[in-house]
Amino acid sequence: MKMILLGAPGAGKGTQAARICKKYGISHISTGDMFRENIGNNTELGKLAKTYIDAGKLVPDEVTLAMVKDRLAREEKGFLLDGFPRTIAQAQGLKELTELDCVLNIDVDTDLLLNRITGRRICPKCAGTFHVSTLESNVCPVCSAELVQRADDNEETVKARIDVYNAQTKPLIEYYGENVKTVDGNQSADEVFEGIVKVLEAI
Ligand code: AMP
Repeated sequence: MKMILLGAPGAGKGTQAARICKKYGISHISTGDMFRENIGNNTELGKLAKTYIDAGKLVPDEVTLAMVKDRLAREEKGFLLDGFPRTIAQAQGLKELTELDCVLNIDVDTDLLLNRITGRRICPKCAGTFHVSTLESNVCPVCSAELVQRADDNEETVKARIDVYNAQTKPLIEYYGENVKTVDGNQSADEVFEGIVKVLEAI
């Protein structure tokens, strides 16, 4: 299965992508994670990406497309692209690279997004994602490591990211038209996943 996952920042793409990839045995390809890995390793790509990510802007299309092209060339099984494409130009570039079996969109009300992202905490050890409202302390409930907040999850940057989503990424829903399967993301993670599995089983 080759699929893409659309949705605003905070829609739950990362959480659902991990569950989908585990259930169906496909690769989870997150462009955000790839950029963060490059930033962590202080590569040239990481240094460039950081200037855009910290400002809540998109990394330029040609840079992002080249990174995805390289990654897909090494892909041997099915995959889920999480956070890509984010612009029409990226979607056109992707079309040149591969066919898709599914375009999944997680739809969440805007007022929920800000709360979800600013309350998000990440475990640097097991990569788990949590929300402060469900935590008793700042320690990972799975592996006990100290949780951190993503640098771009502060309120100012999140607002910029949501504006960028509305201007540049939301038009993809129209671009993919009737191929888009939309799932209501205003529910618990378990309920959203149930909705996604129903959609995928019907394909
Ligand atoms: P994410 O982890 O998907 O929320 O992505 C974090 C940040 O990485 C975004 O706010 C962008 O700055 C950058 N980024 C991730 N994916 C893309 C993409 N497909 N195109 C451009 N920038 C991206």
